[in-house]
Amino acid sequence: MSVEKAVVIGSGPAGLTAAIYAARAALSPLVFEGFNAGGLIPGGQLMYTTEVENYPGFPDGVTGPLLMKAFRDQAERFGTRYIREDVNEIDLGKRPFVVKSDEHTVETHALIIATGARANWRGLENEQRLAQSGGGVSACAVCDGAMPIYRDQELVVVGGGDSAIEEASYLTKFAGKVHIVHRRDQLRAGKAMQERFFKLVDEGKMQPQWNSVVDDVLGDQFITGVQLKDVKTGDVRELPCRGLFLAIGHTPNTELVKGKLDLDDKGYIKLPNPGSSHASIEGVFAAGDVADHLYRQAITAAGTGCMAAIDAERWLAAQGIE
Ligand SMILES: Cc1cc2nc3c(=O)[nH]c(=O)nc-3n(C[C@H](O)[C@H](O)[C@H](O)COP(=O)(O)OP(=O)(O)OC[C@H]3O[C@@H](n4cnc5c(N)ncnc54)[C@H](O)[C@@H]3O)c2cc1C
Repeated sequence: MSVEKAVVIGSGPAGLTAAIYAARAALSPLVFEGFNAGGLIPGGQLMYTTEVENYPGFPDGVTGPLLMKAFRDQAERFGTRYIREDVNEIDLGKRPFVVKSDEHTVETHALIIATGARANWRGLENEQRLAQSGGGVSACAVCDGAMPIYRDQELVVVGGGDSAIEEASYLTKFAGKVHIVHRRDQLRAGKAMQERFFKLVDEGKMQPQWNSVVDDVLGDQFITGVQLKDVKTGDVRELPCRGLFLAIGHTPNTELVKGKLDLDDKGYIKLPNPGSSHASIEGVFAAGDVADHLYRQAITAAGTGCMAAIDAERWLAAQGIE
């Protein structure tokens, strides 16, 4: 079996940018694109979105699938090879590393992990339908909140932690009012976020819906409201709205590396040296949302993909592998 110089796991913005840079550095990268691991598909999370309006270079926006096709074609043009399968197992205990899918076993000197993080959803049928059709349901306020369809509208944010309040306050820039639906009668968010929340409530820009969960999402082509269930009484009520934003956390796709690489307390891959993509084992690099619980944007994923390829190329050169 010949040994690869660089294998990339994942074909979202991080993995494919790593592939573009690695291919141009003559590393002839092999990308495991994934098939359905982590509930994702080749191309990653942007394959589930219609308009991407904040990726630089597209003044009129671009659809997620078109953007990811361009990434893939660009990497292929410079010699990237693809395997459209999920990686089931990796062995980081020996060198070269071993990467296994159902049909392939490959050895590689450098490994770039870019398996992403999936947004947590309520898992309701109508929620998924409207999220996938661009019908006003989203898991990313920064990505979608500025769209004209949400301007001056009543919006709902589900969640009660710091990121829920962060996303909700961002939405108050555009919305008429933002309702926070939380299953408890107080927030989990820290003190500073709570203060921001109560200030916005006083200003009439935010309104809590305590002890409540979203039980159903209403609307045919576009969301018209949510059905809320009171977790204490079981009572059901309707809340009209024109946008629903889930902010109940993300799950990093790190099942493959659990117990093999250092992870942080949220399960994301730990990068011991700030500003570098080196993971806790030499020769392993991480890029994109799998190592980033803060920004989780296509452009930051692409940026760290670039870093991982450059770090890998320099590390390989230092080992005398060129
Ligand atoms: C609905 C939605 C809309 C969004 N809109 C925007 C937006 O407008 N602008 C923006 O900047 N960001 C947006 N985001 C966020 C953006 O999509 C992510 O930040 C970005 O895709 C992260 O890139 P990534 O490469 O790290 O991971 P992902 O895009 O998540 O890709 C992960 C890749 O890893 C693969 N994979 C996972 N496990 C395995 C395995 N075991 N073996 C092989 N492959 C595997 C998957 O198949 C996938 O190809 C949106 C996210 C969502 C969910």
